[in-house]
Amino acid sequence: MRTQTAVERASVRDPRPPVRKRLEVRGRVQGVGFRPFAWRLARELGLSGVVGNSLQGAFLEVQGPVEAVDTLILRLERELPEPGRVASIEATGLPLSPADGFRILASASSGPATAEVTPDLDVCPDCLRELFDPSDRRHRYPFLNCTRCGPRYSVVLGLPYDRASTTLKDFPLCPRCRAEYEDPADRRFHAQPGACPDCGPRLWAADPAGAELSGDPVGLAADALRAGSVVALKGVGGFHLCCRADDPRAVARLRGAKDREAKPFAVMVADLATARSLADLDRACEAALISPAKPIVLAPKLPGAGLAEGVAPDTGSWGVMLPGTPLHHLLLDAVRLPLVMTSGNLSGEPLCADNGEALERLGGVADLFLLHDRPIARRLDDSVLASLDDGGGGRVLAPLRRARGFVPSPLALPLPAREPILAVGGDLKSAVCVAEGGRAVLSEHLGDLEHPSAFRNFGAAAERLQGLLRARAARLAADPHPLYVSTRWARSLGLPLTLVQHHHAHAASCMAENGLRGPVAAIVCDGTGYGTDGGVWGGEILVCDLKGFRRAAHLSPFPLPGGDSAGRETWRPALGALSAAWGADWRSHLGVLERLAEGRTLALAARRLEAGVPAPASTSLGRLFDAAAALLGLRGRNRFEADAAMALQHAAESAPSAGPLPFSLLPPSRGDGPWIMDARPMVRALCRGGEAPALARAFHEGVAGLLVAGAASAASAAGVDAVVLSGGCFANSLLLGLVCAGLRGRGLRPYTHRSVPCGDGGLALGQAAVAAASGADLPD
Ligand code: ZN
Ligand code: ZN
Ligand code: FE
Repeated sequence: MRTQTAVERASVRDPRPPVRKRLEVRGRVQGVGFRPFAWRLARELGLSGVVGNSLQGAFLEVQGPVEAVDTLILRLERELPEPGRVASIEATGLPLSPADGFRILASASSGPATAEVTPDLDVCPDCLRELFDPSDRRHRYPFLNCTRCGPRYSVVLGLPYDRASTTLKDFPLCPRCRAEYEDPADRRFHAQPGACPDCGPRLWAADPAGAELSGDPVGLAADALRAGSVVALKGVGGFHLCCRADDPRAVARLRGAKDREAKPFAVMVADLATARSLADLDRACEAALISPAKPIVLAPKLPGAGLAEGVAPDTGSWGVMLPGTPLHHLLLDAVRLPLVMTSGNLSGEPLCADNGEALERLGGVADLFLLHDRPIARRLDDSVLASLDDGGGGRVLAPLRRARGFVPSPLALPLPAREPILAVGGDLKSAVCVAEGGRAVLSEHLGDLEHPSAFRNFGAAAERLQGLLRARAARLAADPHPLYVSTRWARSLGLPLTLVQHHHAHAASCMAENGLRGPVAAIVCDGTGYGTDGGVWGGEILVCDLKGFRRAAHLSPFPLPGGDSAGRETWRPALGALSAAWGADWRSHLGVLERLAEGRTLALAARRLEAGVPAPASTSLGRLFDAAAALLGLRGRNRFEADAAMALQHAAESAPSAGPLPFSLLPPSRGDGPWIMDARPMVRALCRGGEAPALARAFHEGVAGLLVAGAASAASAAGVDAVVLSGGCFANSLLLGLVCAGLRGRGLRPYTHRSVPCGDGGLALGQAAVAAASGADLPD
């Protein structure tokens, strides 16, 4: 007699025949403990089959009673713990096969298995409980993690993603950790960075000479911080410098030592309740603060926060963050004070990432070092999100700096890339992007490439990202700026190169993250970008799709005396704006500038301008903001990027609306040329005097009115109603809200950034989207 198979036996017992289904699961389901989770559920429901990772996510083959399979699908969707997220499950029927329990399939080690490497995530609730549980073997152990939390991108050296290809490769698992690693029922099943005090990395405190100090390192650091010292702390993606945020002297010392005059510092507080007492947080801000990515969130200051004014002088918001690693949790628990947390670098340099480098470069800054021996594979800054006015009574959270906790999450391209593309971004706020098929991965923030060490890190990051994604670029995309080192680097590789005009790339990045193929109208406003005519553009209305663009309108041009120094000294663009606005008698309006600039320098620059010494013509809105801040006496120079523009915004936000400054939209001088958004009447109005806050407010409203008028005219001529907003100027919440509201008032649909920065940090995504589209056939 033939032996019955398990399937046949099951169907004899069960009046309802079993089914076998293949489930394709999409969402964030890799590197988050999805497979052991599915394994436990399937066993609980008495199902047989397998679960594994696929290129697009995860899949299961499950067999058993139909009700149990349906229950499994429902529970997979509903019960996957954070940070996992099931976006969809697609089920298809399969023929029955012999049932032999439920198994977890090992990861495939070939193909672009990218989604396996997730961003670095803060300690999960289960691990946090262990951290503070005196009876747990990982009590107060700062490197604990599990499949749902801990370091990922910052420790991965290569693929396939297993322990041997992480920076924990030199820490062999002890027997107890090994048992957890191999037990599918354990939440540390296949947790690659797993560690315990017996087998994992070690934390210690050291003096600035590098000598180890005896005693509990966290306790030593907490004592030093309470005494007003500066502590250098090795984190996930590099070092932080920290000090108590309520002590003006400690904050001033940190500023002096870091050579950082006024740029706001972020503050780490122990919990959400404390964060609420500092800043005006809406629901979205709170959700972001407690999310496993643990970004810095910029939110309006509340009075009586008790922080030193020097933490974020002359601005209306605090950058707040919650503890993002087990070490942060231990430290905040011990020190019980809000702490300034700033990147461990000297002004402008990349983040320090290894112990020797940190001791050498930060030895003169920090009084005490908290070091550990888990190497950092990638320098990752803290990500920064801002809560911005959406112009419709709500707020939108948008990244200003995208790094730890967000990278390497993939983004979708509106048109797929036919060949792997590497887009190199720009020279400021650098980030590179690798695109393949319909997916693009934007690298972490790489800083400004003018620093040789940042440039080296940029080249290495481009290599590493291609390696990680197993996508060797067949095409490059870059900015056409002749002096960008990123462009020169791209040219040196000798591959086919797509040059994407700066503002078109900005527009395309906003289109890409909103899934738009165009045509759309685009308002792109920033500090500087190389124009097709060689000029300094930055107040642009484009009509574009992903393949090309037309410059439909631009800000009225004005000269920038002093060239590059016009970006630092705001009185220079102010001189230029005055000369453009007043014509012959502009020198009678120098007035307030004489207080902001050294007399002889100003007189010389004015004379040269008058004598017709060539100065680059600019349509930059960023420089117009600088000019306005100077004309209102708010800032004579930018102590850091956007300092003057932020001062102008801060002043404007304190004044009620009383209508815009005058402006006009001028028709093209040639039939098919761009319209001129004439800002000269606004500049003249600023010279007439008045209260700075009221004028700053009216200036914002005037600029918004001008941009909306320009975009509306371009959109109606092109027959489109979608308008994308991009460029660094849209980090200004007041401006963004006014423009969005104005566009909606004209029946247009504004689209803004939510996933990548509006500034040059998002440029590479746009370049990649354009390069992908130029190789694709656009359906009409
Ligand atoms: Zn965990
Ligand atoms: Zn161990
Ligand atoms: Fe830009």
